[in-house]
Amino acid sequence: MKISPADLVFKTLIDWYLTNKRDLPWRQTALPYHIYMSEIIFQQTRIDQGLQYYKKIIRHYPNVKSLAKAPETDFLNLWQGLGYYSRAHNALKAARIMADKYYGEVPGSYEQLIELPGIGPYTAAAIASIAFGQPCPVVDGNVKRVISRLRALKTPLDKPELTSEIQKNLQSAIHSFNPSDFNQALMEFGALVCTPANPQCTSCPLGKFCKAFISGKTHLFPVKAAKKEKPVVTLQY
Ligand code: SF4
Repeated sequence: MKISPADLVFKTLIDWYLTNKRDLPWRQTALPYHIYMSEIIFQQTRIDQGLQYYKKIIRHYPNVKSLAKAPETDFLNLWQGLGYYSRAHNALKAARIMADKYYGEVPGSYEQLIELPGIGPYTAAAIASIAFGQPCPVVDGNVKRVISRLRALKTPLDKPELTSEIQKNLQSAIHSFNPSDFNQALMEFGALVCTPANPQCTSCPLGKFCKAFISGKTHLFPVKAAKKEKPVVTLQY
């Protein structure tokens, strides 16, 4: 594959990922339901906290059809301790829809996935790319931080313009790569190397591409949301 200079940073990132990725159960399978369940559980839970829950849920409910038939209390009991119970309720609702509408399979397109309860743009893009190889970039907090630093983007983190700018940038790049590796590499890199505090810049494989690092301004990126001024209230007695 011929790599353009603009894509070299992503090629380097994916090479790093393929050598350094954590060995996680949903990375050893191509089963969309397993990938779906990992994305639902790890939306709001750290991997070390949720891993045992993931294994337990997959053991009890190994596919969409078994989850669709699960009594609510049984599934909620398994979920107990994971928190954010709306995820569990939505997973049950989604399983029943998938059983009825998609013959018990996880649907393969972003548009179908985002219609399911509990699935937003990030999760739909993650499942579509990882389970089905669709070129849908994911833009979560990790990805925003990595790209903001690499490109020294000045748009603050809380602005929707930052998400759309990054989305556009990644959308054109993802087509040159395996979409699953592309997205997972960005997320893994943000979780392990380009971390919120103390990123490992001196040993970073992307250091030579990183505008924030090259300019010695890593600490300034991503640009934080501006603090809202407190309103001044005048009281008259
Ligand atoms: Fe992140 Fe530092 Fe690497 Fe830049 S050099 S991508 S800031 S870890």
